[in-house]
Amino acid sequence: MAQRVTVSSDGNKKISRVRVAVRLRPYLDKEDEKGEGPCVRGLDKQNLEIVNWRNATETVKYHFDAFHGEKTTQQEVFLSSVKPVLSHVLNGQNASVFAYGPTGAGKTHTMLGSAEKPGVIPRAVREVFNLVHAKDAEEGWDYSISMSYLEIYNEKVLDLLSPSSQDLPIRQDKDKNIFIPGLTNVTISSFSDFDTHFVPASLNRTTASTKLNQRSSRSHAILLIKVVRTSRVLPHRQQTGKLYLVDLAGSEDNRRTGNQGIRLKESGAINLSLFTLSKDSLGGSAHSVMITNIAPEYKYYFDTFSALNFAAKSKMIVNKPFTRETVAVPVLPVKRAREEHKAGGSGS
Ligand code: ADP
Ligand code: MG
Repeated sequence: MAQRVTVSSDGNKKISRVRVAVRLRPYLDKEDEKGEGPCVRGLDKQNLEIVNWRNATETVKYHFDAFHGEKTTQQEVFLSSVKPVLSHVLNGQNASVFAYGPTGAGKTHTMLGSAEKPGVIPRAVREVFNLVHAKDAEEGWDYSISMSYLEIYNEKVLDLLSPSSQDLPIRQDKDKNIFIPGLTNVTISSFSDFDTHFVPASLNRTTASTKLNQRSSRSHAILLIKVVRTSRVLPHRQQTGKLYLVDLAGSEDNRRTGNQGIRLKESGAINLSLFTLSKDSLGGSAHSVMITNIAPEYKYYFDTFSALNFAAKSKMIVNKPFTRETVAVPVLPVKRAREEHKAGGSGS
C-alpha cells in the first residue's frame, strides 16, 4: 500500500494568457425578419467591426487573438484555436475551451457540431487519444483517460452520465483542485468508447431542454476529459491533466442585471457557478481558450456588443499553468518512524 503526496504544484510557472477567439456564424435570413442585413463583419484574421449604435455611419473595431469568419470550417476552428492547448493535458496541466456568446450565435455548433460537421468536442477527444497513442511507446509512462459530463443549471449540478443523481456539491480540496463528489467518472479506452457514453448523454440534455423551456440556453454543459499518467518506475510519479470543454449558458443572461424573479435567480446562478468552475479552468492553472460566438443579424445587436466587450476584457486574464504531480510514498516506514519518535519522547 502506498499513499500519494503532492510534490509539486507550481513548478514550471509560465504565464499563459487566456486566448480569445471570436467566431461569426453565417447570416441567416430567418433571423432577420426586417431584412436589415448584417451589422457585423470581419476585417481580417484578427479584426472585426460592428455598426456603432450611437452613430450608424461609424463602426466600432475589435482586435482578438483570432477572428473566425462565417466561412471558417469546423476543422479550421479546431486547428487554430483548440489543438495547440491539448498537448499540455498529457503533461499534467489543465486546459479548457469555452464557447461563450448569446443564444443562437453558434456555441453548440462550435462545441458539438453535427454528424456532417463535427465540432470541437469530438475533434479534441480524438486528438487526445492520438497524442496518447503517439506517446505510449516512449518515455515510460502509462496513460489512463476518463470522462465526466455535467450540466450546471440554477446552481445545481446534474450528472449527465447518470441523470438520476441530481444536485451534486462542488468542493475544493487542500491543493485547490475543484472536484464534485459523486460525479460519474468513466474510464474510456478509445474514441468509440467515448462516443458510446457521450452521445446518449448529449441527447438527454437536448430532450430536457425542449421540455424545460430553453433550459439549455441557461445552463453550462461541461465535458471533462481527465488524463492521468503514471511513471513505470519508482516512485511512480503520477500527473493529472484535465481538459474542460464547455458550452456556456447564453451570455444574454449575464447582461440583464435588472431581471426579476426566476430570471434574476438564473442570472445569479450562472455567474456564481461560472465563478466556481473558473477557479480550476479559467483563472488559475489552465491553458484556456475562449471562443466567443456572435451572430451578424441586428436582432442580436446589443447581445453581440456586450459579448464582444466581455471577450475584450477577458483578454486581460492571466493564467499561470502548472503541473500537478504526486509520488507514491510507502505508508509503513512513515508509521514506524512516528512510533520510534513516540518511544523516544516517553523516555525523556
Ligand atoms: P447556441 O448554441 O449558441 O444557442 P447554435 O449552435 O444552436 O447556437 O446555433 C444556432 C443556429 O445556427 C443552429 O441552427 C446552427 O446550426 C446554426 N449555426 C451556428 N453556427 C454556424 C456555422 N458556423 N455554420 C453554419 N450554421 C451555423
Ligand atoms: Mg446551444
